[in-house]
Amino acid sequence: CGIVGYIGNEDAKEILLNGLEKLEYRGYDSAGIAVRTEDGMHVFKEKGRIATLRDAVDMDVETTVGIGHTRWATHGVPSQLNAHPHQSSTERFTLVHNGVIENYQQMKREYLQDVQLQSDTDTEVIVQFIEQLSKDGLTTEAAVSKALSMMKGSYAIALLDKEEPETIFVGKNKSPLLIGVGDGVNVIASDAMAMLNVTDQFVEIMDEELVLVKRDSIEIKTLSGEVQSRKPYTAELDA
Ligand code: GLU
Repeated sequence: CGIVGYIGNEDAKEILLNGLEKLEYRGYDSAGIAVRTEDGMHVFKEKGRIATLRDAVDMDVETTVGIGHTRWATHGVPSQLNAHPHQSSTERFTLVHNGVIENYQQMKREYLQDVQLQSDTDTEVIVQFIEQLSKDGLTTEAAVSKALSMMKGSYAIALLDKEEPETIFVGKNKSPLLIGVGDGVNVIASDAMAMLNVTDQFVEIMDEELVLVKRDSIEIKTLSGEVQSRKPYTAELDA
């Protein structure tokens, strides 16, 4: 399983699909991408191979922001419905997640009684809970921090918010995730190999950190809001 993300100036669809292919070795049963255009968020997801997903991405419009996922099902059967990305009820938020949320049943019972869940995954609870918190008045950054600090288990996540279209919100705990930095472009990947075509400069993310990934900057913070500074390293691998 794996995660990719892209914000830059080239066509995100192609870069995300190529990146997901580089992560195939990690194993998966389904795959999906979400890309943003002027008219909104477009989600494509399929059970089976990346090649099947590639055929399903019937979109000519160029996009410069997106996230992608290969799933290894832990909660909910492998199916198109359970494949990531998952969206919140209003479709404002779109999320990919690797890992396992151990307390998702409890989160669902305590906070999401009124929400009609669309999948059987532990993952959907994260994106629905973020939407609840934002309806309660939190900024997206605060909602993501709060949601992640309440989730028990392992996660690497990337989130898109329709209302903050120039940011990818990223978090991790006990699942791998790197940020690749370039000139006017930044990327996300579970393994640097997935994004070596874009950059060889990567920044390591520590557990319980939140990263705001924009086109021209990345900002790393702890879940309690302390800003962290960290230098990139050069990934020496063959693309
Ligand atoms: N637990 C999540 C699910 O079953 C994510 C699995 C993964 O890491 O791909 O959908």
